[in-house]
Amino acid sequence: MTKRNLYDFSKNELTAFLTEQGHPPFRAGQIWQWLYRHYATNFQAMTNLPQYLRIALAENLEIRTPQPIDIVQSTDRQTTRTLFQLADMEAVEAVLMRYRKRRTLCISTQAGCAMGCPFCATGQMGFRRNLTAGDIVAQALFYARRLAARGERVTNIVFMGMGEPLANYAATWEAIRRLNDPEGFGLGARMMTISTVGLAPAIRRMMQEPEQIGLAVSLHAPTNQLRDELVPVNRRYPLDMLMATCREYIDATHRRITFEYALMDGINDTHQQAGQLADLLAGMLCHVNLIPLNPTAGSPYGGSPPERVYAFRDRLQAKGISTTVRLRRGIDIQAGCGQLRVKHQV
Ligand code: SF4
Repeated sequence: MTKRNLYDFSKNELTAFLTEQGHPPFRAGQIWQWLYRHYATNFQAMTNLPQYLRIALAENLEIRTPQPIDIVQSTDRQTTRTLFQLADMEAVEAVLMRYRKRRTLCISTQAGCAMGCPFCATGQMGFRRNLTAGDIVAQALFYARRLAARGERVTNIVFMGMGEPLANYAATWEAIRRLNDPEGFGLGARMMTISTVGLAPAIRRMMQEPEQIGLAVSLHAPTNQLRDELVPVNRRYPLDMLMATCREYIDATHRRITFEYALMDGINDTHQQAGQLADLLAGMLCHVNLIPLNPTAGSPYGGSPPERVYAFRDRLQAKGISTTVRLRRGIDIQAGCGQLRVKHQV
């Protein structure tokens, strides 16, 4: 009989499971803390549980940690990328980026992706499956365990790895709740950001959630014509609908939206396009991150050269749009979304 994975339990499910087995409900809180605060990987480590319970748990459950099958570090050692193999042999990536004070983790919410963005390695592999909440949090726990060994902790999480998080809404949100739980992982909601290519109905759904998660929308193009090509889901939720939803989101939450814009050489990085983007965002409570594209092997899309990146930024700023150029982290370790997975072809 296949044992159930402890990561697949919500806190309520774990409490119900233990109660059914005749154990007091407070044991669920203890186990939860071992899992999400101490990052335990086996039941014997849970030393405040009686031995009979640890044995009983191990007979019925397992803590199925994702297997790291490749870990690569950038030459400056500030970025670490891990390819994990899941129990069903699917593989997903997560990246840790070290900044002076922050330790930011970028995690995946799907194996593959159905959105088909042509510049993205994950988009090219197609959709494999949704990750469970357990698959998602296990990526964070893996890195938290490694950082804890050095006296450090995860300070920020971005749901910006493989997949479209809002296309796997329920599991992503369950993962957010677990990571936010003060009795568990305890990461503040404002330290987490969901990145989407713009699934307008799901953005509207996010407005109803109590957790104050950050929202990043990947625009990549200032016109429908170009965006239809670069972000095909634009045909379903075109720019006017998406921008109206974003304005609604800001009105409802009073939170700033980050717009991600991957600058691609000769595709979306002209002076005119910077002006069009500024017009699109005029008057919005927002910030733009400009990221020169991480080139993917075999793709016709390349990153813009620095002079065009800074000219684009200057044009946006001159039009009053708050803008930052983001460093291309880990360019030497295939740190574009899905690139490591493609290399392994698992
Ligand atoms: S860029 Fe994001 S949404 Fe587009 S295909 Fe890649 S993973 Fe999917």
